[in-house]
Amino acid sequence: MAQETAWDAEVDLLVAGAGPGGMAAALVGAMEGLDVMVCEKSGQIGGTAATSAGTLWIPGNTQSRRAGYDDSPEKAETYMDALVGGAPGESRGRDLRGVYLATGPTAIDYYDTKTDVTFLACGRHPDYKPNMAGAAITGRAIVPAPFDGRLLGEDFRLVRPPIGEFMIFGGMMVGKDDIPRLIGRFRSVANFAHAARLLLRYLSDRVKHPRGTRIVMGNALVARLFYSLRKRKVPVRLDTAIRAILREDGRADGRVVGAVLDSAGRTLRVRARKGVVLATGGFAHNKEFRSAFMPQPTPVHSLACDSDTGDGLTLARGIGARIDGEGHRGGAFWTPVSVTRKAAGWKGLFPHLSLDRAKPGLIAVNAAGRRFVNEGASYHDFVEAMFESHRTVPTMPAWLVCDAAFVAKYGLGVVHPGTTNLKPHEASGYLTTAPTLEELARKIGVDAAGLADSVRRHNGFALTGSDLDFGKGDTELNRFNGDPGHGPNPCLKPIETAPFVAVAVWPAEIACSAGLATDVDGQVLDENGRVIGGLYACGNDMASVMAGTYPGPGTTLGPALVFAYRVAMHAAGRSDAAGGLGAGRDAGAERAAAAR
Ligand SMILES: Cc1cc2nc3c(=O)[nH]c(=O)nc-3n(C[C@H](O)[C@H](O)[C@H](O)COP(=O)(O)OP(=O)(O)OC[C@H]3O[C@@H](n4cnc5c(N)ncnc54)[C@H](O)[C@@H]3O)c2cc1C
Repeated sequence: MAQETAWDAEVDLLVAGAGPGGMAAALVGAMEGLDVMVCEKSGQIGGTAATSAGTLWIPGNTQSRRAGYDDSPEKAETYMDALVGGAPGESRGRDLRGVYLATGPTAIDYYDTKTDVTFLACGRHPDYKPNMAGAAITGRAIVPAPFDGRLLGEDFRLVRPPIGEFMIFGGMMVGKDDIPRLIGRFRSVANFAHAARLLLRYLSDRVKHPRGTRIVMGNALVARLFYSLRKRKVPVRLDTAIRAILREDGRADGRVVGAVLDSAGRTLRVRARKGVVLATGGFAHNKEFRSAFMPQPTPVHSLACDSDTGDGLTLARGIGARIDGEGHRGGAFWTPVSVTRKAAGWKGLFPHLSLDRAKPGLIAVNAAGRRFVNEGASYHDFVEAMFESHRTVPTMPAWLVCDAAFVAKYGLGVVHPGTTNLKPHEASGYLTTAPTLEELARKIGVDAAGLADSVRRHNGFALTGSDLDFGKGDTELNRFNGDPGHGPNPCLKPIETAPFVAVAVWPAEIACSAGLATDVDGQVLDENGRVIGGLYACGNDMASVMAGTYPGPGTTLGPALVFAYRVAMHAAGRSDAAGGLGAGRDAGAERAAAAR
């Protein structure tokens, strides 16, 4: 039978994966007039992004400019060149970067003005290497506007919920801006009114819905994408996984013309006239790729959703695509996590992103009881320091050490601020407490003399306000996440009042950096650097333009939405209108001239 007659369905663009990468590509494709189908392996949309903070790093974005924050892609390019670097003559990575920066604001404006995927400026949200040339303190981060889940009707249940650790009362989402207002609810009428409004809305939601419908952060991003797809009647087939990629006439060098899907046990052959987009979320739960691309010993914890098993990479490699792993440092983007246990066999991971590590009165130590990092560093840099320390001293886990007064004031991991009774958390095995540092050290198995010495030295720094060992409190990022009401250094305070408290933290990735090699339009490349016609990748399936470095908040979702836009514009034959290429080429030419 000729292949053309064997198709079960025909579309222009077939997108695998209903995370932000896939849904964004599908949305732009549909907006540009393509007939699009999305297939999603799990029973819900949203992928890992549904549990994310939802921030996008888009230098020079319109939303921030409008709010009065000045920035430019050119300044960001200086920063990225310094941070990401690149071997001389390695032009593709640099061109991707140039195109990313030049296309970013245009792509975001496209979503913001033409669809329901709208964004707000974050204002002050420092880059993660704020002392590097070209870094910015304000204006680069944007977040999705909060979304009213009720607009989706029954389909709200199809949006993957955030992790339980990110909700209060079992189902109420709280954004970063809500936290200080909830904690300080009795400090002002405005705060009280805000807290009361959130609570009343949540109570009324729970009559009809499985969780609160005022959704924020990454959950709002994926719900907005899904809502926009629904409005345009783009089919999203749940419980449907891509299982094979089909090439023209079955030829090894043929253009990609479709894919085989496994739809709840039924096999479907779908023809894709303009291309197949792989957006299956990267390799997080794929053992082979983890051990190939991540540092040794391979970290065991992952914050990615269970269904991200490296399918896109495996299938593309099977038809000759190249996977870029080298040059991506640890192959992934990291955060320290603590392991929560609530019942037998139930395990959760709490990402220590920004709420506790930079606060005054906490240090991180390795098994020698020694500090090894500026605790207020970005989550990614913190874990890279864990890997480095682990080369000589066991640092997996590392221990966050503080006193009970710290926990009561700022919270620690899953333990909320205001908590004074630590017994339940100790009984569950989450926290360890002790009346002396010596006993704490014994209980957690770190060197007692080392820990005592580290605390003594740190306490001395807290009095002078200057951390001579690691500079905690020296950067804008540290101070942003510290306690502005505490001095002389908002990130340093003596650890001195018993009981003392420790929690173990492990490395876990929030996203992959290694991935499929692509050109600037997300077209997948083969081992010889040639485009595999009709095959695209975006999101974590695409090798990250950041090459394993973490410039600022939104390092993976920014590229996911920008390259999804470029992919869809290319598939629609509209690359010329996508913006960015001229700038990228000019920038590339300038750099080449400078290098000569
Ligand atoms: C706690 C946390 C906070 C984070 N905060 C941020 C942040 O603020 N900013 C930022 O930039 N990044 C953040 N991230 C990272 C971000 O969530 C990911 O980079 C992002 O979700 C990647 O998008 P994606 O579309 O590639 O993959 P995903 O969001 O994981 O979606 C992939 C989808 O593909 C589906 N799939 C898998 N295999 C198949 C198959 N064979 N066929 C069909 N479908 C398939 C999966 O089921 C899934 O739905 C955070 C992550 C975590 C865990």
